[in-house]
Amino acid sequence: MGGQDMTGQSLMDIYELLYERYGPQHWWPGDGRFEIIVGAILTQNTNWGNVERAIANLKAAGVLYPQAIHGMSVEELAGLIRPAGYFNVKARRLKSLIGWLFDQYAGDVDEPSAVDLQTLREQLLAVHGVGRETADSILLYAYDKPIFVVDAYTARVAVRHRLIDADADYEQLRELFQWGLPQDVRLFNEFHALIVRVGKEYCRPTARCAGCPLEALPHVLE
Ligand code: SF4
Repeated sequence: MGGQDMTGQSLMDIYELLYERYGPQHWWPGDGRFEIIVGAILTQNTNWGNVERAIANLKAAGVLYPQAIHGMSVEELAGLIRPAGYFNVKARRLKSLIGWLFDQYAGDVDEPSAVDLQTLREQLLAVHGVGRETADSILLYAYDKPIFVVDAYTARVAVRHRLIDADADYEQLRELFQWGLPQDVRLFNEFHALIVRVGKEYCRPTARCAGCPLEALPHVLE
């Protein structure tokens, strides 16, 4: 059995243990593409509760649709998304992203779904303020593209379970999961959400392995 098979086995072990403990996480179910895209920007450097407050403001103001935000000033938008923190930066980023939607797709949030994964990823990464994690979250959660989203929680779990070196970068980490698993959008969607859950509850900067769903798997602490 080759190394990749071993990794594949370990990744599915991790997934199954997390799923057994936590069940489905219901990330972004039925929120609609535009809300997911807005949420992907707003969630940068903050928790989801703050994002929900900012989205509630946009809804209450009746502006949670592309044309409205496209036509709004940065200052006006920043005022509405204030609860998400870094609101001036995020307002500019949101405006850039929606500007891209208008430049490339006439403001139609559904049109990018017909574009292939790699092209769409390159387009998103070229937008000001859209990094890999944000781009991949949009691709996976808004457009159902089979790409694995990784973050600091993913890195922590993978390093502590000896799946990857501590100095691995985003792409190396993403490729570990991307190619070590079946290419299944639902699996990628659920797995990322489950890793975030275990990262928040157990695999914190100081690991709390006792009682962790992955406690029985071989792991090391740095
Ligand atoms: S807390 Fe411990 S057992 Fe749980 S994922 Fe982190 S290293 Fe693994």
